Amino acid sequence: MADKVIAVADHRYRASLPIVPTQLVAPSGDLRDSLHRPLGDLRISVTDRCNFRCSYCMPKEVFDRHYEFLPQSSLLSFEEITRLAALFVAHGVGKIRLTGGEPLLRRNLERLVAMLAALPTADGAPLDLTLTTNGSLLEKKAGALRAAGLGRVTVSLDALDDAIFRRMNDADFPVADVLRGIDAAERAGLGPIKVNMVVKRGTNDREIVPMARHFRGRDVALRFIEYMDVGATNGWRMDEVLASAEIVDRLGAEFALAPLPASAAGETAERWRYADGVRGEIGTISSVTKAFCRDCNRARLSTEGKLFLCLFASHGHDLRGLVRGGASDAEIAAAIGLVWQGRDDRYSELRGSASQPRPTGERRVEMHYIGG
Ligand code: SAM
Ligand code: SF4
Ligand code: SF4
Repeated sequence: MADKVIAVADHRYRASLPIVPTQLVAPSGDLRDSLHRPLGDLRISVTDRCNFRCSYCMPKEVFDRHYEFLPQSSLLSFEEITRLAALFVAHGVGKIRLTGGEPLLRRNLERLVAMLAALPTADGAPLDLTLTTNGSLLEKKAGALRAAGLGRVTVSLDALDDAIFRRMNDADFPVADVLRGIDAAERAGLGPIKVNMVVKRGTNDREIVPMARHFRGRDVALRFIEYMDVGATNGWRMDEVLASAEIVDRLGAEFALAPLPASAAGETAERWRYADGVRGEIGTISSVTKAFCRDCNRARLSTEGKLFLCLFASHGHDLRGLVRGGASDAEIAAAIGLVWQGRDDRYSELRGSASQPRPTGERRVEMHYIGG
């Protein structure tokens, strides 16, 4: 038998130390990139580990027992995360999403939530603090997260049918436990809850209408996400993508839908309500067929403190290097400013076009590492 090859080990470490400018300009609360997009949203991956093995994200063949996850010493501590988050907030970030990996696997996450919830924002408005989870531990943790200051949650759920769900999470995890997690989050006041379903043609697309039927009548925004070509391990194929337009057609055949306006700047979803006035919301996130890079205000901080400017980036900016190297807040803030000002990423807009960036030979980072 051939030796086991660990396919994705060292790409995680490809990052450069950001330049600290000699003139330290203090954050103004309105930082723009080279395409004039503001920095508004920070996603923080608190762990690269997960108890699921969704084939579109962490396929079991790669992320098996031989795979080396990051050692504890590589992870940013809660104090380091909070220090960096405060600098992003000073630059204008108003929304922070904790993600991973599975964020609820990080021990004492409530402590981090409480530290982040206390951050003052640039304009004095409350920070929109949220978390994306697979829901497996949510029933147990919803109350404590809410008490610590978490505002709301997004739960990923790819099917209601137990057999399809178990196949998709590839960890034999039952759907009933996630549904109980969603109920617990609702009771704890972590709403309005979003439920994200990644749609793979031929795998779970027959669950689209049952999912809508299940959540109709509740204060839940159900969002259908096009299966994306993130990372380098999920064997993505265009023929497994079900375009949002087709998803909306299938839903429209069952329910009368009325379009809703975008809820916030940088909003990634197109949204509908039920025309008959029943509670609930439908959204589609068309990352493949209708790119939204033009409004992309998202930065991602990896589990080990590297800043990524795009979900499809292959190169990060090593903020942990600055933090652990003794840089001051003013120096790190100025370095973040310079990195964002130079940003010109718009992968999804260019995907498949003549001006698509040439492959650099660098491997794209995996989503569980930089945070979805
Ligand atoms: N483990 C948590 C969860 O599943 O909610 C948080 C991390 S996960 C990487 C964040 C989101 O990314 C999930 O909603 C997941 O469905 C989505 N995701 C992962 N891989 C994807 C892909 N290839 N295409 C579209 N969405 C994907
Ligand atoms: Fe885990 Fe979330 Fe990725 Fe699924 S999508 S493998 S739950 S990190
Ligand atoms: Fe933002 Fe990159 Fe996604 Fe475009 S491809 S929306 S720039 S993360």
